[in-house]
Amino acid sequence: MISQKNNKNFLIDITRSLIVPLIAASCFIIWVFYLFKYPIITFPVIFVIFTFVYVLSGYVYGIVLLTFAIPVAFFVITPDTTDNLLLICETVWLIFVFLRLEHYRGLWVSSKIKLNVENEILDRDITLIQSAIIENENISKATKQKIQTFQKLENIIKTLEENMNSTNFTEVIEEITQDFMGKGKFTIKRQSSKDIFVNYARFNKSPLLISNTKEDNRFSNEDYKDYTSVIVMPIELENNYWGSIKGYTKTQKETFNDYDLRQLSILANILGLTINNSALLKQIETLAITDGLTGLYTKTYFIERLEEEFERAKISNFPISIAIIDIDYFKLVNDTYGHLAGDNFLKQLANILKKRFRGIDILARYGGEEFVVLMLHTKKEECFAILEEVRMGIENKTFVIPIDFYTSKKIKKTISIGLTTLTDEKDIYEFIKRADDALYNAKNSGRNKTAMYN
Ligand code: GH3
Ligand code: MG
Ligand code: MG
Repeated sequence: MISQKNNKNFLIDITRSLIVPLIAASCFIIWVFYLFKYPIITFPVIFVIFTFVYVLSGYVYGIVLLTFAIPVAFFVITPDTTDNLLLICETVWLIFVFLRLEHYRGLWVSSKIKLNVENEILDRDITLIQSAIIENENISKATKQKIQTFQKLENIIKTLEENMNSTNFTEVIEEITQDFMGKGKFTIKRQSSKDIFVNYARFNKSPLLISNTKEDNRFSNEDYKDYTSVIVMPIELENNYWGSIKGYTKTQKETFNDYDLRQLSILANILGLTINNSALLKQIETLAITDGLTGLYTKTYFIERLEEEFERAKISNFPISIAIIDIDYFKLVNDTYGHLAGDNFLKQLANILKKRFRGIDILARYGGEEFVVLMLHTKKEECFAILEEVRMGIENKTFVIPIDFYTSKKIKKTISIGLTTLTDEKDIYEFIKRADDALYNAKNSGRNKTAMYN
C-alpha cells in the first residue's frame, strides 16, 4: 500500500517538474507573441492558462510568470492612455487574483496536510487495531484451549472418583493418562515397583524426563533399548510416596518434551489430591457411622437403616426384629472400679456381641451402656433363641478388667434384653418403644432375662 502511494507521488513530482515548466514556457511564448497583436484580450486570456499552470505547479511558477508578464506588458504599451489605464487595471486585478488564489491554495495545502496527518493517524490506528485483533484471537485460542483442558480435568476427576473403589483403578488411571497426554504408552508403578527409571525418580524425589534416550547416559544401554524417550512422574499423598506414572515412546515422531512434563505434573497433582480426598471422605463417613469407644454402628446410622428396613419389611412381609440390650447394674462397675474400667468393660462386651451376631444383623451402641440389634429375615422364635444364647454366654463369662497399671479384676456381669418383632407398628419409634417396654419387663422380672413384647 505504502509503495503504491510512493509511486503515485513520484509520478506527480515528475509531471510537475517536467510538464509544468514546458506548458509555462509555451504559454509565455504565446503571450509575448500575441500581446503585440491583441494586448488587451491576450492579457486576461493567457491569465486563465497561467492559473491552470499555477494550480498545477504551486505558486513559484505563477510568480515567475507574473514577474515576466508585467514588464513585457508595459514594454508593449501603446501611447494610448485608455489602453494604458486598462492595462494597469488588468495588472492590479491580476495581482489581486493571484493573491486570492495563493490564499486559497494555502488553505487547500494546509487542509491536505491535515488530511494526510489524519490519514496517517487512521492508518496507524488501523494497524494497531489489526494487531489487537490478532492478539485477541491468540488469547481466545489460548483461553479455549485452557477451558478444554479444564473440562478434561473435570472429567478426569469425575472418572477417578467413580472408580476409586473399583478393582481396576490402576487401569483406569493408565487409560486416563493415555487419553490426556495423547502420545506414548503409560503404566502405573506402585511402591513395590523395581523399575529402574521409577526408582531413580522416586529416590531423587523429582520427575524424570529423558527426551532423547540416545543422548542420555545415566542408565545402562540395556534399559534404553526399546525407548526413544522416557517420562516418570511420582505421585505423592500428603508427602508420602504413593506410586509413579511411567511413560515411554518408541518412535522418534512422538518423543516427550518439557510441555509433556508439565501436563503430566498437573495430572499427577490431581491424581494425588483425588485419591487423598476420597480416602479422607471414606474416613469421615466411617467416623460418622462408627461409635468411637466400641467400634459398633452409631445410633444415627442405626435409625437410618431401621427406617429403610422398616419400609422394606412392610412391603415384602419379611420378618424384622429389634432387641435392646442393657447391662444389669452397670453403674456398680463405674462406682467400684472407676469410669475407665467401665469403658473397658463396654469395649469387651461390644466385641463379644460383634462375634455373636451375624453379618446381616445391624448392631449399634444405642446409648451409654445400651446396645441395639436389628435382626433381618429371622423369625421371632429364632431371634429369641439367638438372644438367649448371647445372654447366657455373657452370664457364663468372666471379664478381666484393668483397674490401674498393675492390677486387674475378674468380674461377672449379666444383661437384660427386650425383643420385639414387627407387626402393626405405624413407625419405627413405636417399634423401638415396644422393644423398650419388653426390656422394662425383663428388668422388672428380676434382670438377666430376655423378654418378648406381647
Ligand atoms: P439397670 O440397668 O440394671 O437398671 O442398672 P444400671 O446401673 O445399669 O442403670 P442404667 O441402665 O440406668 O445405667 C446407667 C449407667 O451407665 C450410668 C453411667 O454411669 C453408666 N454409663 C453410661 N454410659 C457410660 C459410658 O460411656 N461409660 C461408662 N463407663 N459408663 C457409662
Ligand atoms: Mg441403661
Ligand atoms: Mg443398665
